Amino acid sequence: MEIKAIRGFNDILPDEIGKWQFVEETAREIFEGFGFSEIRIPVIERTELFSRGIGEATDIVEKEMYTFTDRSGHSLTLRPEATASIVRAYLEHQIYTFDPVAKLYFIGPMFRYERPQKGRYRQFYQIDAEVFGVENPMVDAEVVLMLIHFLKKVGLENLELQINSLGCRNCRPRYREELKKFLEKKSFQLCEDCQRRLQTNPLRIFDCKVETCQEAIADAPKVMDFICDECQKHFDKVKEYLKMGGLDFILNPRMVRGLDYYTRTAFEVVSYQLGSQNAVTGGGRYDNLFKDIGGLDVPGIGFAIGMERLISLLPKDKEFTQYPHLFIAALGEENSKKAYELINQLHLHGIRAELDYEGKSLKSQMRRANKLRAQYVLILGEEELRRGKAVLRNMESKSQEEIPMRDLLNTLKTRILHD
Ligand code: AMP
Repeated sequence: MEIKAIRGFNDILPDEIGKWQFVEETAREIFEGFGFSEIRIPVIERTELFSRGIGEATDIVEKEMYTFTDRSGHSLTLRPEATASIVRAYLEHQIYTFDPVAKLYFIGPMFRYERPQKGRYRQFYQIDAEVFGVENPMVDAEVVLMLIHFLKKVGLENLELQINSLGCRNCRPRYREELKKFLEKKSFQLCEDCQRRLQTNPLRIFDCKVETCQEAIADAPKVMDFICDECQKHFDKVKEYLKMGGLDFILNPRMVRGLDYYTRTAFEVVSYQLGSQNAVTGGGRYDNLFKDIGGLDVPGIGFAIGMERLISLLPKDKEFTQYPHLFIAALGEENSKKAYELINQLHLHGIRAELDYEGKSLKSQMRRANKLRAQYVLILGEEELRRGKAVLRNMESKSQEEIPMRDLLNTLKTRILHD
C-alpha cells in the first residue's frame, strides 16, 4: 500500500521553498527592526493551557484541537495557535524580570482539525508577533503598522485593514446580554451550532458561515455602541495613531475574532483575491489572557499571519528560487577530479555550483545545466586541459571566454560574485 500524507497536511516542495524563505527572512528583518526578538516554543502543550487561554466555548477548543493522552496519562494538545504558549513561556521563565516590556515573534506550524479546503489546512504555518506589558494604545497602532509594513514589503497589494473594539470584561457582558436577547427572538433562524452558541458564547455567531445565521445577525446590536468610556478612549487613540502612521482602515463592527481572549482592539487584514477564506492575518489586544492562564496581570497585543494564504498572494512575476551560479561540465576522469576540487573551493567561497557525477557527455551535461537554470557553465574538456585552459560560458548571453586553469578560482569569483 502506498503511504500518503494525511489530509490537510501539506509538503512544501523545493520549487516553492524560495517563497517561504523570502517571507520568513523579510519577517525577521522587519520585526527585529521594530525591536522584536524571536522565541521558539514547543509543538505540544498541556491541553488546559489552550482550554483556559483560548476559551472552552470556542470552535478551536470545542472541536478543532488535536488532543491525546500520553503514556503517563496527561492530556496533551498540538498547539492550535501560538499566543497562549508564548504567554506561558514569558511567565514560566519570568522574562518580565529582565524587562516588563517584551516584544516577541514566532514562526511555526499550528494544528487545527478543520475541514480542509483551499486556504484552510489542518497543519498550517503562522508568523506571530506579540507585545507584552504595554497598555498604551500607541503600541496597538505600532503593531498594526509593523504588520502592514511587512505585508507591503513582501509585495502584497489591495489589502484592507479592518478594525473593531471588543470592549473589556467590564462592558462586554452587557453587550453579550443585549446580543443574546436580540438573537433569542430569531433563534428559529439559527443553525444547530449557533443555537448552542447562543447559550454559551453568542458573539461566536458572527463567525458562522451559514446564510440564515448571517441573516439573523445582520442588524444585531454593535459592540462598539456598548463599550465603556475607558475602552472608547483607548479605541479613539488607536484610530488617531493609525492615522498618524498614514494607515487607512475601515471599522468592522461584526469582526469579533474566533478566540475568547481578545479585549478592546481587534483587527484583520483581508484580501479580496482570496475567496471565502479571505483573512490573511488577524490579531488584537488580550488584557486578560495572562490572568486566565494563571499568572500576573500583564496586558498584551499581537497578531498571527497565515503563511499559506500570504504566500498564495505573493506577486506572480517575482522570482523566488535561487538557481546555481555555475555548472561545471567536466569530461574525462582527470577533469572530473579537477571539477571536484574546484567545486569544493567554490562552495567555501559562497558560489552556488553544481557538477555531473555520472561521466555523461558534454551535450547531456549542458542539458542538465540548462534544466537547473545555471547562470554560467564552466567546461573542462580534454583539449582545453592540454592547453591549461577552461571555457566559461554565459548561459544567458551565450558568450564564451577562455580562462587559464591556474587562475580559475579568482576569475570565477570576480565574474560571478561581482556580476
Ligand atoms: P487565527 O489564529 O484564527 O486568528 O488565524 C490567524 C491567521 O491564520 C488567519 O488569518 C489565517 O490566515 C491563518 N489560518 C487560520 N486557520 C487556518 C487554517 N486552518 N489553514 C490555513 N490558515 C489558517
